[in-house]
Amino acid sequence: MPDPEALDVALPEPVLPDHLRVLVDSLLDKVHETGITTDDALIEQAFHFANRHHAGQKRKSGEDFVVHPVEVAKLVADLLLDTDSVVAALLHDVVEDTEVATEEVRELFGPGVAHLVEGVTKLSRISFASREQAQIETYRKMIVAMAHDYRVILIKLADRLHNMRTIRYLPKQKQVAKAKETVEIYAPIAHRLGVHTIKWELEDLSFAVLYPRKYADIQQMVQTRKVDRERLMRMANEELTAALAEVDIEADISGRTKHFYSIFQKMQQKGKEFNEIYDLTGIRVVVDKLSDCYGAIGIIHSIWTPLPGRFKDYIAIPKMNGYQSLHTTVIGPSGKPLEIQVRTDDMHRTAEFGIAAHSLYKESGKVGKKGRAAAHQKAEDWIRNLIEWESQAQGSQEFMDGLKFDLYDDEVYVFTPKGQVKSLAAGATPLDFAYAVHTDVGHRCVGAKVNGRIVPLSYTLKSGDTIDVLTSNQLDKGPSRDWANIVQTNRARSKIRAFFAKERREDYEQKGRDSLAEALKRQSIPHAKIAQSSLLAGVIREVGFKKAEEFYVAIGGGKFSVQIVVEKILQQLKTDEAVPDDAPLMGVIPSKQRTIRSGDDFGVRVEGIADASGVAVRMAKCCMPVPGDPIKGYISLGRGITIHRGDCPNVKALEKTPERFTPVHWEGRPDASFRAEIQIEAWDRVRLLEEISRTISEHGCNIVQHMGVVDDQMVKERFTIELGDVTVLKTLLAALRNVDSIFDAYRVTPGQG
Ligand code: MN
Repeated sequence: MPDPEALDVALPEPVLPDHLRVLVDSLLDKVHETGITTDDALIEQAFHFANRHHAGQKRKSGEDFVVHPVEVAKLVADLLLDTDSVVAALLHDVVEDTEVATEEVRELFGPGVAHLVEGVTKLSRISFASREQAQIETYRKMIVAMAHDYRVILIKLADRLHNMRTIRYLPKQKQVAKAKETVEIYAPIAHRLGVHTIKWELEDLSFAVLYPRKYADIQQMVQTRKVDRERLMRMANEELTAALAEVDIEADISGRTKHFYSIFQKMQQKGKEFNEIYDLTGIRVVVDKLSDCYGAIGIIHSIWTPLPGRFKDYIAIPKMNGYQSLHTTVIGPSGKPLEIQVRTDDMHRTAEFGIAAHSLYKESGKVGKKGRAAAHQKAEDWIRNLIEWESQAQGSQEFMDGLKFDLYDDEVYVFTPKGQVKSLAAGATPLDFAYAVHTDVGHRCVGAKVNGRIVPLSYTLKSGDTIDVLTSNQLDKGPSRDWANIVQTNRARSKIRAFFAKERREDYEQKGRDSLAEALKRQSIPHAKIAQSSLLAGVIREVGFKKAEEFYVAIGGGKFSVQIVVEKILQQLKTDEAVPDDAPLMGVIPSKQRTIRSGDDFGVRVEGIADASGVAVRMAKCCMPVPGDPIKGYISLGRGITIHRGDCPNVKALEKTPERFTPVHWEGRPDASFRAEIQIEAWDRVRLLEEISRTISEHGCNIVQHMGVVDDQMVKERFTIELGDVTVLKTLLAALRNVDSIFDAYRVTPGQG
């Protein structure tokens, strides 16, 4: 008798009706086209599974329901995601709309697929009290979900895109609701992720539903200009191709039409008529390498006159979503303005596919393990920035209060009072949060407020909580012993343990000092004198310790006998007869080299030069070192010694003549001033500059130079400041980062440009 289970496994999948066979094949073709490594059998299996469970369900269009997941899977394949994502796309509605449980998906298709399906399902299940609330929350939830795995969002976007493509089958009222949601939530998310191909289509599909007449108008107007436009494109193309060929720049030139919704937006925002919008079409020039971008722009500006103020360099300063390109508008061959974008292949991919362009889930054979790890890193950084950006851009209390959900159970996402997101392991307490902010904040924690209410330190944090850590003013306050039992994260626990280990060490050290003093006293040896003498230093080194501190800790901890030391000291005293009064102190190693200071008195000590007078020391202009920086001295012939930062690129170039470098150090307290360049990135707001300047001057620094660039809502302010020493720079940057709406503040050194 055959084993019924074996029979079940061996059961062949039913033969598909023609239209479904064609459908599956079209998916497999799509997947093969992308060149990613796939598991066809698994995809086929997933299709049969979905088909079986959605059996009898119909789309509003009258088609079999299974058509929908297959179309979504095709879109996912277009984004070059992996087999897991394609399979999850096929299954994305089975848990939501059929009897299937996540467990079954996990068993059949593995934890990776199950995890994705679960994520998409949970996103679909959000329900809300009001429309406004729904929007904020859906939006936030997506952002938070992305922190976990952005593939979930990409699948969700593909799902929405296919639903929008088939929206005409829904009742009018539903169409409008869906279209609104799409424009307000899904398109902005696609935009943030840089997936412009999806963003544009979502917008145009929604536009057609929301403003059918305007849509038809624009469509018709674009159509009537088609012939003109194409002729113009041909002319421009020929002229530019020839000019670029002369300088050996290979370029792929194509015309591009603005999508309808952006034409509509332009008309609305600028209050313009259709015929006043001249950049309906533009030219896109895709070149091989970065330097060719600038080369091509030069050529473009030489054959056609550029319009002033229209050149934008998004290569040097990319947009928030990673978009890079050069933009210019010129008077084209027709005598009318013509918009031109220049970019490399890579930039083009990013412009079209955004985060999916460096999706780690690309399994292409061309990309090695290292390449994938780098791509993965890039995608992760993207998400991290995005989350920070989101949390700071609109930190409304409404959102904070509303963000109460558990999308995934192994992590919680909580907020600082400033609205920064921190992710912690599930079960984390306010103490874990405090240690996640900073070790000192943890050590000095005396209590915590969650959403404005005092809670016990053992309180379990929930996603969406805003935590305000209350700290003691006492700088040396430490943790309590029982904290190690309260905290849930490894980081917090190890910090607490380290604190007590250090405290124990300090105890031992004190005990060690005391017991040596006592033992010497018993022998009638003057302890104070011995303790500071080279004699004791010599003995400590003789018994095998490099630092006095370690020696005392060993004695205090009972690991080393104080008696041995006392005997050695007694022996030494017998040979030396007496302790010299002027013995050098322990720990100060006399320098054999002379210390000199330059005439300019920069506070730099130069070693190994016999005669100090007449040696000019100057700070290199290229890297502007400040005290505290690692530095190198370079003997410039006839011009004294130039001090560079250790990491200055010029130092590398100069290293061909190593004999001209001389060791230099910073001397005690500097009394001259130094210059440093800092960059501040922020969301523009009223009085931002005022607050920045105040913060800078409150730290005793002067602004020497200032330059600002605005990009969308982001401003980048660059300051050259004069300051005392590097410790001020650190606290200044920390203070700047704390200023409202400032995203980042950092020092610009030559390596970072
Ligand atoms: Mn769906």
